[in-house]
Formats: sequence, structure tokens, C-alpha cells
Amino acid sequence: MMKTPSCANCHNQWSWKMTWKKSFTFKQAITCPYCKEKQYITKSARQKLCLMPMFFPLINVPILTFGVDHIYLVTSYVICILGVVIGMPYLFNLSNEDEPLW
Ligand SMILES: [Zn+2]
Repeated sequence: MMKTPSCANCHNQWSWKMTWKKSFTFKQAITCPYCKEKQYITKSARQKLCLMPMFFPLINVPILTFGVDHIYLVTSYVICILGVVIGMPYLFNLSNEDEPLW
């Protein structure tokens, strides 16, 4: 099942809304609202987040292959963006330590 992340220090689960907001701070460390400890997004979670935009060009494949109407292309993109926006907090995993990116 998809779950929002929980703090690696105090194990309190972060809400979807809070994770989403925190993900846009673009800071290395995210402060846990419960225990005020610094939390870091794990390497595997960061890799998943980086890979997600790569799926966008795949939407073009059926359009280019079958010549589908542009309205379907636009609709597909909107659905994909919504999917990313809604699904993003579920991809987060938190760690007490900062890991090197690769
Ligand atoms: Zn915490």
C-alpha cells in the first residue's frame, strides 16, 4: 500500500499535505514537525523522484504511432501531472542521515 513517509527519528507519520509542502522547500534537510529533528530524503526516494519526469515522453508514443487527436495528448498530460502531484508524497522515505546522492 502507498503510505506517506514517517519520521525516522520519532516514527510519527507525516501527513500528505505536510510532506507535499515540505517537498517544495528544496532544502537538504527537512525539519520534522513532531520532534524538530532534521530529516533527509533517502537516496532511493530521490532517485524515484528524479526518474518520474522521464515517463512523460512515453505519453507521446501512442499519439505519434496512431495519430491521436491533440485533445487526448493534453488530457493525458494533465492526468499525468495530477498523478505526479498526488503521488509524490508517497515516494518519500526519510532518514536521520544525509546520504550522498549517488
Ligand atoms: Zn520526528
